[in-house]
Parts: sequence; structure tokens; C-alpha cells
Amino acid sequence: NAKENGRDDFRFFLTDMNLRAREQQSIEDGLRHALEQHEFVLHYQPKLNLETGAITGAEALIRWWRPDRGFVSPAQFIPIAEDSGLIVPISQWVLREACRQARAWRDADLPPLSMAVNISPLEFRNKGFLEGIRAVLHETQLEPHYLELEITEGVLMQNIESTGSVLRALHDMGVRLAIDDFGTGYSSLSYLRRFPVDALKIDQSFVRDISTDAGDAAIVSAIISMGRSLKLRVIAEGVETAEQLAFLRAQGCEEMQGYYYSKPLPADQFEVFARSKA
Ligand code: C2E
Ligand code: MG
Ligand code: MG
Ligand code: MG
Repeated sequence: NAKENGRDDFRFFLTDMNLRAREQQSIEDGLRHALEQHEFVLHYQPKLNLETGAITGAEALIRWWRPDRGFVSPAQFIPIAEDSGLIVPISQWVLREACRQARAWRDADLPPLSMAVNISPLEFRNKGFLEGIRAVLHETQLEPHYLELEITEGVLMQNIESTGSVLRALHDMGVRLAIDDFGTGYSSLSYLRRFPVDALKIDQSFVRDISTDAGDAAIVSAIISMGRSLKLRVIAEGVETAEQLAFLRAQGCEEMQGYYYSKPLPADQFEVFARSKA
């Protein structure tokens, strides 16, 4: 009967919560040692200029292989790293590794490529954030305009005052700024004028159905034309098909990133890929 079923559901719910809590704890424990055990690597996803067909840059994406369990997705462990504060040392490693790699590719005569690094909200709010960026640029001798930080709209909407001063300091250093997952946050567009933003990355959820969903197609064209009027670069994320590519090109989108062109690659494979496109 219903009452017994309800009790079963509840018991199932508790077990499920327990499992999830244990899984979270296990990830957190694993993360504590992952840095020193060298379990992280960066993969790099190429970005393409739609007009010239040239490769314009890379987005660094963290990968974690746990020795006994295999691959753990960043979508799963980044939030746990944020809750536990481990995001700060992990992000510092990502930033240094990405800038070191970008510098190494410049020295190896790859075409000039921008290096995009994802910045999580907690990292952005961290007191040492700006100093950390400055130190890594100095240490790796990467020219600041090759570094592009990707932040989400949510970050911009909290503490507008302090956000503004951090963004202006980055801009003064010459570092570029892209808004990641653009269109998915609750935000006022006025920040696009107020803050020194260089690029918008159209979220993949809009790109996915542009050839079949008129609403998504309208949103994507609106973002592209708004970007053009505001003189912002517009990058489409998650492009998987020739139809999506054709639509974006017809709308005058400048850059794209997605499996259609290339999935994220280990550094050595990225280098081969970039040379083949040069
Ligand atoms: P994101 O920054 O929006 O990155 C794009 C995600 O879409 C990546 O997933 C990428 O592998 C995936 N992707 C790229 N092209 C395609 C495509 O054509 N189709 C589909 N279905 N997916 C595509 P990934 O690497 O699993 O990263 C997920 C999220 O985790 C990222 O979203 C970012 O928010 C976060 N993340 C990844 N690396 C880092 C990092 O080093 N630091 C921080 N703070 N966050 C990171
Ligand atoms: Mg990103
Ligand atoms: Mg994104
Ligand atoms: Mg995302």
C-alpha cells in the first residue's frame, strides 16, 4: 500500500543520500592528494576563426585520472573542489601549466595562439587572485594578451564594485576576458558596457538545436549581432555538425569551438593539430 511504498521510497532516498555523500567525500579525499601525486593534466581544445579557417587559440580543460577509479569529469569534481577550498591550489596549478604551455608553443614557433583558462567564482573572489595571475605571467614570460580568462555571468553579478576593480586591473595588465556560457545566467546586459569584456562564448545549450529550434536560432543570431555592435568577439561553443557551422557562418559568428572541429586534446596532439592548420 501507499504508506509502505512511501516508507520504501524514503529508505531509498536515505541510501541514495548516503551514497552520494560518500562519493563526495571520496572525491574530496582524492582531490587532497591529486596535485602532489600529479594526477591532473590539461587538455586543450582548439578554437577556429570561421572566416579564415585559422586556428586562433586553445581552451585549457582540466582532466583528472584517479589511479584506482579512472577518469572523473570536471563537472563532477570542480564543485567539490570549490566547496572544500581546494579549488585555489588546483586553479593555481591550471593557470601556471596553461601559461607555461602557451609560452612553450610560442617558443616552438606555433602560430600565435590565445590560451583560455576557466576561472571559478571562488577563485575570482580569492584575495590573492590578481597577484597570482601577475606572478604566473612574470614567471612564464607569456605576453598578457595571449591569456584569456573565462568567467561566467554569475561571477559578474555578485559584488559589482569589487568585480569591477578586479576586471579593470586585469584589463590594465593586458589580460583578455571572455564571458563563458553566455545567455544562461540571470544577468543585466549593462555589465557588458560597464566592464572591460572582450568576448562572449555562446552557451552550447543554444548551439545544440540551432538547426531545428527557431527560438534557439533567434537567440544565437541576437547574441552574434549584439556582439558585433558592441565590438565583442563572439565564440560559439559545442559546435558538432556541419549544419550548425553553416548557420553560425551565415550569421557572421567569428569563432567556434566544438567536436566538429576537434575535441579537447593532450598537449602533444594539440601541437600536431595546430601545425597541420598553420
Ligand atoms: P566550459 O568551460 O563551458 O567548457 C566546455 C565544455 O564542453 C568542456 O567540458 C568541453 O570538453 C565540452 N565540449 C567542447 N566541445 C563540445 C562539443 O562539441 N559537444 C559537447 N557536448 N561538449 C563539448 P569539460 O572539459 O568536461 O568541462 C566542463 C566544465 O568544467 C567547463 O565548462 C568548466 O566550467 C569546468 N572546467 C573545466 N576545466 C576547468 C578548469 O581548469 N578550471 C575550472 N575552474 N573549471 C574548469
Ligand atoms: Mg570555458
Ligand atoms: Mg561553456
Ligand atoms: Mg560550463
